[in-house]
Formats: sequence, structure tokens, C-alpha cells
Amino acid sequence: MVIADRQADLLHNHDFRLATFVYRQSIVEVACFTGNSNNMVLAIKKILFSGAAGVVIAIGALTAVSCSMMGEIPSGQTLEKVKRSPQYNVKEGAFSNRLSKITSPIPTKITHSSTKDASLWQLLAGNGRPTVSLPTVKPDLVKFMEPSDDIKVIWFGHSTFLLNLSGTTILIDPVFSDYASPIPWLVKRFQPPALMLRELPTIDIVVISHDHYDHLDMKSVKFFSDKPTKFITPIGVGSYLLGWGIEADKITELDWWQHHKVGSTEFIATPAQHFSGRRGYNNNQTLWASWVFRNAQHNIYFSGDSGYADHFKEIGEKFGPFDIAFIENGQYNLNWRSVHLLPEETAQAYFDLKAKRLFPIHWGMFILSYHSWFEPIVKIDQEATRQGINLVAPKLGEVIAINDQLKLHRWWQSLITDDAKKDGTE
Ligand SMILES: [Zn+2]
Repeated sequence: MVIADRQADLLHNHDFRLATFVYRQSIVEVACFTGNSNNMVLAIKKILFSGAAGVVIAIGALTAVSCSMMGEIPSGQTLEKVKRSPQYNVKEGAFSNRLSKITSPIPTKITHSSTKDASLWQLLAGNGRPTVSLPTVKPDLVKFMEPSDDIKVIWFGHSTFLLNLSGTTILIDPVFSDYASPIPWLVKRFQPPALMLRELPTIDIVVISHDHYDHLDMKSVKFFSDKPTKFITPIGVGSYLLGWGIEADKITELDWWQHHKVGSTEFIATPAQHFSGRRGYNNNQTLWASWVFRNAQHNIYFSGDSGYADHFKEIGEKFGPFDIAFIENGQYNLNWRSVHLLPEETAQAYFDLKAKRLFPIHWGMFILSYHSWFEPIVKIDQEATRQGINLVAPKLGEVIAINDQLKLHRWWQSLITDDAKKDGTE
């Protein structure tokens, strides 16, 4: 479908939202007694009558951890700062997208029309996950840290990756927890990360795209609380970091189009079309963003999470061409296409941005949609072949240098035959 047609559809499509997000958040609401608590009260009565006090204690502990993971949204002086953002809609009391009605209330009825029909229960049962571990390389940190004219990259799966940009180490959307969710059995990672947090090299900067659990992870943030690492986030996200022990002078919050320089590296917050929230209610209290990282030698784009819109073209015109663009490609669904890219839209964004290489992210570690783990990479690979896109897709943990010697090895191909049969797509 032509992108312009999609855009027109998108403007009229209000009945969408990330289904797994809704489901996950509704469970958390019950756990935190913030929503309709009748079912929870009944459940607790049953537990008490059965004498299972230990279970109650476990629920209490789980509730405390889950609520702490939800974090603190802007309030007081921080909220006043947030309200001054041009992206903040004072009347609605929330951030909004450039296209109106994108952040309309979450529908209670979940509809979907992915490439293949599947139920929420199948999703929760783990359908779509790889049947074996994806190949992981133990990162060669000596190679990664070696002084070089090339951008060095290590991908940890989903949207977590590490850059060495002329000696500055930048960690993006670090999620090293076992689950991208406040509930410890929902959204389980496929396998352990290629490095534990304590094994990471010294990180100069952490950049966050937005506050969803698959991008902002309490455990990973807290790890840096006693380190000199600085954080750069969209406006409002700093409230979570403060609540988790990061000192205020280590946090820089930027609004769209604002710049911040650390050493030789400039960070520019750029628009994205998405939404935010960790509680399932009172959403969009913190901003979401895409990012440009650049210095005298290199120019990089990171999409965060975003639906397709004209911001890609605008960013390409303002800041392109990019040496490499890390663009979300995974966890999509036709019903959510206003807030997530379909693979052909990822390809279109690459062209809009005037990027020289495309590194697809937001796949390869968590299942948040109805498609199989491999569908996003297979589809973007087809688009890349068809449209002459220079695709970069290393194994998890592999250290790569972005230069002309870089070759594409389709490591996923040998893994997908059995999974495709199981998935019914072959
Ligand atoms: Zn995401």
C-alpha cells in the first residue's frame, strides 16, 4: 500500500492501541489497587480463607516491586516544566503527537488484523518465540573499545544497543531485566543478554527514547546510580530516573529539536509518533522521542518507537544524510500502525531519512505482537533486496564496525525453518 494512503487511514483510525500493553497494564492496575479492585478483593478473601498466608505475602512483595517499577511521573516543579513544552496539551493534561487524535483513549475492545490470525491467549502462551536460543556472540570488548574511525555497535536485542562513537560510549534504551513488564511472567526475554550489566564497559551516556517497559528498565537504570554515567531523555522521563536514585545533575531532559553536547558528541531530540505511560491510566505524562547522535565524523539516527509520519522526512532534511539509521522494525500490527512501523514503512523511513545503512531494531528479544520472532527481519530483508537498502543485522552481542567491509550474514535463516512450521507460516 502507498504510504500516503496509509497516512490517510491512520488519521481516521482511532480504534487501536498496543494490545499487550493494555492487557499488561490492566493486570498491574489490579495489583496496585488503582483500578476496579473488586476482583482483587475477592481473590484475596479466597486466599485468606484457604489459609495461604504465604501467598498473600508474596502478592504484597510483588505489588511493592511492581509499583516501584512503575516509577514517578512528573509532579510539582517538574510538572510545571513539562507544561511549558510545546508538545504538551494543557487542556488535555498530557503530551500529544503532531498528528491529532493519535493518543486517544485506549479502547477496551482489542481488535487486530495481523498477517496471521492469533489470539491474545496464544500470544501469552509464548507463541511466536524462538524454539531454540538465538545465536549470541560474547562481545569482544577489546575490539569494541579500540580507537577507530568507524562507528562500533553491539546489539543486545530489541532496542538495546551500545555505540562507540569516536571513543564515547552510548548505551541506548538499556533493558537487561528478565521481563519487559512489571509482572514477572509477562513479556519474558528470549534468553539472557549477551553481557550482564556488570560486564559492560564504562558507559558515558545512556539515552532513553520513552518510558515503556521495553525501553526504560528500572533495574538497568538503578545499576548506574553509583556510576558517573549521564542520562539524556525526553522531557519528563527524568522523574523516573530521580525516583530510582539517579542524581539530578546527571540527567538532561530534552524537548523535540533541542540539542545537548557532551564532549564532542551532540545529542538532538527529534519527534516520534508514539505514546507513553507505565500504569495504563493517566498516560502521556512524559514525552517520547527519536534521536540524532553526531560528531564531526559521524551522524546516527535512532527512531525510538514511532508510527510512520512526515517527521522522518523532516529529520532527514534537517539532519541527514545519516551514516546509519536504527529504525524500529518489529512488534507491529495493522491496528497499531499509527504508533509502530510496518516493515515497508521502516523501509520508507530509511529513504526519508536519507540513511546510508539500515539497522532494524525492536525485534529479536521480546514478543509484543502477534507475529513470529522472525517475521520482521524476513520482511525487512525482502524490502532491502527489492529496494536496494543497505541492511545491517549482526548477531546478538557481535561487535561490528560500520564501514564498507561490513557484510550481511543472514544468521536467522537456518533457525526459522522449524519455527515457521510450528508457527504455521510455512
Ligand atoms: Zn517498544
